[in-house]
Amino acid sequence: MALIIGNWKMNGSSASLAEVGQMIDGAEAAAKDGMQMVVCPPATMLREVSAACRDTKVQTGGQDCHADPSGAHTGCISAEMLVEAGASYCIIGHSEARERSGDDNETLGAKVEAVLRVGMVPIFCVGESLAERQDLRAVEVVTGQLDVVAKKAGQVIVAYEPIWAIGTGLTPKEEDIAEMHLAMREKLGPQPPLLYGGSVKPGNAAEILRIDNVGGALVGGASLVAKDFLAIARAI
Ligand code: PEP
Repeated sequence: MALIIGNWKMNGSSASLAEVGQMIDGAEAAAKDGMQMVVCPPATMLREVSAACRDTKVQTGGQDCHADPSGAHTGCISAEMLVEAGASYCIIGHSEARERSGDDNETLGAKVEAVLRVGMVPIFCVGESLAERQDLRAVEVVTGQLDVVAKKAGQVIVAYEPIWAIGTGLTPKEEDIAEMHLAMREKLGPQPPLLYGGSVKPGNAAEILRIDNVGGALVGGASLVAKDFLAIARAI
């Protein structure tokens, strides 16, 4: 089973529900080809998108959560709230969220625990900066980030997202993706699905997704338009 997960970030409006409808229609055929589709809309849309996806081949997820179930955390959302809104997955450690919140490994670990506590699946994101890649430290940095989930490898999905490839149209060389995914597989063992994310588009999905140990894609920009998201699923 390959996974294709759409991260809408801070995009989408009620008009996007029409896109979800088209994704649902296309997901039937994709599921027959062994494809699981997941959409992670902004939290304000999660309940509505989850309701639209109920009993279909599309599942939903949150984009981040707080580690506590409730409390005085203005502006935050708990894993309990996400699951109540219909989410089955939650992205943790996306580089945009890491940069904004400054979350350290301890906080990220607590968030992963929170996601597991409510029965959702964490989609744990890792990735190096351009400077770290240029310094030949990409594998060291990413495998270090995996310490947070190393003991929970059977319960998580991991997405390798080079920070410099997100939203830029740039992608690593195939051999660099292969090297990183092999290093992640060696560290985490056979269980977790390992995804690639960073400027995946209909035009490059097939070549990226046939790389060894790449079990799917985390897609940002191209997941907002059903036609593109489904084309990526078909390419896989
Ligand atoms: C992302 O933000 O997770 C992502 C992969 O974005 P994009 O596909 O737009 O590069």
